[in-house]
Amino acid sequence: MTTNSPAPHRTPVVIVGAGPAGLTVGNILRAASVDCVVLETESREFVEKRPRAGVIEEWAVRGLERRGLAGNLLARAQRHTACEFRFGGERYRFSYGDLTGRHHWVYPQPLLVTDLVHEYVDVRAGDARFSVRDVELHDLESAHPSVSFTCPETGERRLLHCEFVVGADGARGVSRGALPPEHLRIARHDYGIGWLALLAEAPPSSDCVLFGVHPNGFAGHMARSPEVTRYYLQCPPGDDPDNWSHDRVWSELHARLSGAGAPPLTEGPLIEKRVLDMHDYVVEPMTYGRLFLAGDAAHLVAPIAAKGMNLALHDAFVLGDALAAYLDGGDGAGLDGYSDLCLRRVWDYQEFSQWLSEVYHGTAAGDPFRAGTTFARLRRLFTSPAAAAAFAEQYLGTAEHY
Ligand code: FAD
Repeated sequence: MTTNSPAPHRTPVVIVGAGPAGLTVGNILRAASVDCVVLETESREFVEKRPRAGVIEEWAVRGLERRGLAGNLLARAQRHTACEFRFGGERYRFSYGDLTGRHHWVYPQPLLVTDLVHEYVDVRAGDARFSVRDVELHDLESAHPSVSFTCPETGERRLLHCEFVVGADGARGVSRGALPPEHLRIARHDYGIGWLALLAEAPPSSDCVLFGVHPNGFAGHMARSPEVTRYYLQCPPGDDPDNWSHDRVWSELHARLSGAGAPPLTEGPLIEKRVLDMHDYVVEPMTYGRLFLAGDAAHLVAPIAAKGMNLALHDAFVLGDALAAYLDGGDGAGLDGYSDLCLRRVWDYQEFSQWLSEVYHGTAAGDPFRAGTTFARLRRLFTSPAAAAAFAEQYLGTAEHY
């Protein structure tokens, strides 16, 4: 490795990536007075605006609150207690709040990331380097790993010596690639479908999440804020967003989300329109030497059941607490158990996403057998209290043990 840094810098932990996972770990470390450096390839303004998730589970919000990270969220987020399936021209409301007394929080990811950056940089005086380039991880199997990167202001290579590296750089980062292939197994699943992910500058058209199960394909409606709504439309994988004009989008949304007596959808300009190829992966184990992967870097779950950011936060809580305990002189038990503990929840959520995917997409598969079993799954939710309770537990992520 070559660097032209005058003196290599030392810090206990380098965190690669300023998404929900990396920033949460950084905040936990700073609260424990542990120094760390967050390296991020994008600018602060960019990460604070990047639209993605919105649905956060109660345990995750409690976890943020316990660590002093949920002030704005609790003041501004909405509570959601129901979802509605629309199929066969009918509406089936599933009130999981009534069933369980539990709820989801809806708080757009850019607002959460903005809160986490502010707390880390401006309140807890954390060191974050934005817009860095060419991040490389070194000597991960030794007790003295390091991370190098190009400084955006000077163009010089810098080197950070550390004790631990947190790879929280998402699905397209470099950390996962630093694990030697013989050390890990990557399990992948491809759904063979695409989703056109849309953000509309329009108020939500329902007080709850809507799932349209339609022969043309799945459609989803999810509130993000009083002014903005996320919609999804199933489409062929690799489809070009330009194939979807404003009129075509709204006409498909109206058709796929129709239901007896439902008020019409409120239309608005489409401010985001991109195609997601729906796939999942899981890296096992999530660690290698002194590198600990967290969030999407370790496992991607297609946004079918709104689980990805929740898993990223779970990893961050477990890892942040374990690193803080170890660096405060504790034993390494938390770090040793990190991967196994997180992977149990990851696999549970993957399985639920796969189950729900069949509900969403089975009727549009052109296969009468799959259409029949899809409708059986849906009917069971509304006829069997045991099936309803199991669905609510998985949808809310409230199982007592994973
Ligand atoms: P990221 O948020 O991807 O953060 C990684 C960071 O690392 C980024 O800032 C990136 O710029 C940076 N980075 C990348 N490469 C490098 C590098 N080489 N060096 C340094 N930094 C790097 N999840 C839910 O729980 N609920 C939802 O409702 C939901 N809806 C979604 C809707 C959509 C359309 C999508 C795409 C995703 C959705 N998700 C949802 C998933 C959720 O957004 C992700 O799981 C979450 O962002 C993962 O957080 P993370 O911190 O692991 O990774």
